[in-house]
Amino acid sequence: TDAHTAGPFIAAIDQGTTSSRCIVFDTDGRIVSVDQKEHEQIFPKPGWVEHNAAEIWRNVQQVVDGAVAKAGITSADVKAIGITNQRETTLLWDKHTGEPVANAIVWQDTRTAELCRQLGGAEGQDRFRAATGLPLASYFAGPKIRWLLDNTPGLRARAEAGDILFGTMDSWVIWNLTGGPGRGVHVTDVTNASRTMLMNLETLDWDAGILDAMGVPAAVLPEIRSSAEVYGRAASGTLTGIPVASALGDQQAALFGQTCYAQGEAKSTYGTGTFLLMNTADEPVHSENGLLTTVGYRIGDQPAVYALEGSIAITGALVQWMRDQMGIISTAAEIETLALSVEDNGGAYFVPAFSGLFAPYWRDDARGVIAGLTRYVTKAHLARAVLEATAWQTREIVDAMTKDSGVELTSLKVDGGMTANNLLMQTLADVLDAPVVRPLVAETTCLGAAYAAGLAVGFWPDTDALRANWRRAAEWTPRMDEATREREYNDWLKAVQRTMGWIE
Ligand code: ADP
Repeated sequence: TDAHTAGPFIAAIDQGTTSSRCIVFDTDGRIVSVDQKEHEQIFPKPGWVEHNAAEIWRNVQQVVDGAVAKAGITSADVKAIGITNQRETTLLWDKHTGEPVANAIVWQDTRTAELCRQLGGAEGQDRFRAATGLPLASYFAGPKIRWLLDNTPGLRARAEAGDILFGTMDSWVIWNLTGGPGRGVHVTDVTNASRTMLMNLETLDWDAGILDAMGVPAAVLPEIRSSAEVYGRAASGTLTGIPVASALGDQQAALFGQTCYAQGEAKSTYGTGTFLLMNTADEPVHSENGLLTTVGYRIGDQPAVYALEGSIAITGALVQWMRDQMGIISTAAEIETLALSVEDNGGAYFVPAFSGLFAPYWRDDARGVIAGLTRYVTKAHLARAVLEATAWQTREIVDAMTKDSGVELTSLKVDGGMTANNLLMQTLADVLDAPVVRPLVAETTCLGAAYAAGLAVGFWPDTDALRANWRRAAEWTPRMDEATREREYNDWLKAVQRTMGWIE
């Protein structure tokens, strides 16, 4: 056997928005094998997005088996399983049968916009911000639970009787993995809990006052645990008996995988949406500029590490939309080829406010806009505008982060599926006027979950050992002149203004 595949290993499961995957890592943090499976995106009405949780659990089991088989290893070589997941996506299931009571409501779903306005009342969008670090927005899980309880006949009574469990995808996967009905452990980690709008950022426990205001019975809630500890053991499948030893929301996992362990270190992940997180050490920093305050990670009984976050709902999803809904491209990668066939955007700007606008605006009433159209504009210009939308949205987040932290960005660590796009990465460096760097292992989400699980079982000694694994694979440096950058940013901001107030 070659050194690369010598054990032992950690297996990480990433239950993502578009797919579930499992990656087996070695002690150097290198990828040994990957298996991945997409699941159906269900759009029952405009603004609604759902997933079938039973399908997701089946896919998770398949990709775990697939990754272990491809690695050519046995369960004895795997020291721990780490979990990372799409955040906020909300599921209620029957504790006795394991049956979901409805499809999971995905984080991008805007059905709770009106409910959020009602919950805000006279205090408005910031009613729970001091306690939770979050504005009232349809993005978060708490209002989605309330919506399910209000809109599923008989469900509230069953929930209050203790027959129903709530979970984000971490809880759903861990509960099933550790044995399901009668045996499964019902837990979540602090990072996932920090996205429910039900957890107090200081106590790291469910907030009784908010549960009451939100109308969520405590009986449905999982126990909040750290991000790196043994929650239980796998009860079935290829990895039976292996400890399940980490859980982190996908963006926090990427922060961890990018080894942003010091105050001020930041990363941005380019997938379905884009999420820029900056480590703010053991103090929650409250944003004045539309960012979220969230838990970055917590290793065992060490103090929690907090983060400031800029969340963008739609980036890679716009590329998917161009492919699946518009049929303008047939693969995601073609967006780059098409965009490179022209010099610029031809004056067109595409603001993909499909789920309203997230940071820094938090406007549920916004909807997508293509501005600046003339007969000159071709699909190739639109392809440019699609990629630029990701770059400009990042610029807005970076500006907010600079205002909140008082620190200028010197470079940005990036990862995620969209970083395969060179034109996008160059555009990003251009509009940020800062270098953009990508590590060798771009699968930082899975890597972060593996790192946390590995720390929990002593596979790695400490975060210094993990830092030593970080290696630069690519770097893009800014090439755009200042005047062009400012003129185009101004055009982008004008287009953003045109998305707001569409839903009345
Ligand atoms: P997630 O974890 O959110 O499912 P990934 O990190 O797997 O996302 O990235 C997938 C996203 O990246 C998809 O939305 C896809 O459209 C986009 N994507 C993949 N390859 C490219 C590419 N070459 N150019 C632009 N976007 C891409």
